[in-house]
Amino acid sequence: MWKACKDVLPTLSNMWKRKIIKEVECPICKRVPEIAEHVLWDCDATKDVWSQGCKRNQKMSGHRSSFLEIWSHMIKNLQQDELDEAVMTAGLIWFRRNLIHGKDFSHPDSLINKAREEIQIFKHSQERQHKKSDANEESCCLWKKKKKPHEGIYKLNWDATIDRAAGKISIGAIIWDSYGNLIGTLIAPHSLSANPFIAE
Ligand SMILES: [Zn+2]
Repeated sequence: MWKACKDVLPTLSNMWKRKIIKEVECPICKRVPEIAEHVLWDCDATKDVWSQGCKRNQKMSGHRSSFLEIWSHMIKNLQQDELDEAVMTAGLIWFRRNLIHGKDFSHPDSLINKAREEIQIFKHSQERQHKKSDANEESCCLWKKKKKPHEGIYKLNWDATIDRAAGKISIGAIIWDSYGNLIGTLIAPHSLSANPFIAE
């Protein structure tokens, strides 16, 4: 989005300005020179994509003088989840444009669905990250409640579980120093049939 707003995307018009190419015509609609706002907003193929997206974006259809104006309008009018979808959609439109010389030109529906799918994946990975940091925080709190070892002495906690069906033992160990710093962890799976007492 930043590159589109600053008009530094490698569009045909920008490459023409740098004398890299001679043709600037949009390779999709072949109507006008290819500039950022045309690729990401005005081109007929692009309008088809946005028309499948959120209603607030559909209402702001029409020509805009720059992508910065379009983006400013989106920031002002869209809800956060709609804005996330718009960012992802614009990224996929640009990605699709880069494939225009190949045969893989996605249908508008599949592009919006892909944007929504990517957002879900991103949100899930963020939730997993938050859960991990919550768990770390919890283990720190647990540590504070437990008795600390003396200076220069380390504390080792371990546990063992047995998967009888698979005939495996899993041994986990964690070492802390006297300041509560995590020194190291170990997870050691073994193929062994035994009871929990022997495993520990
Ligand atoms: Zn076009």
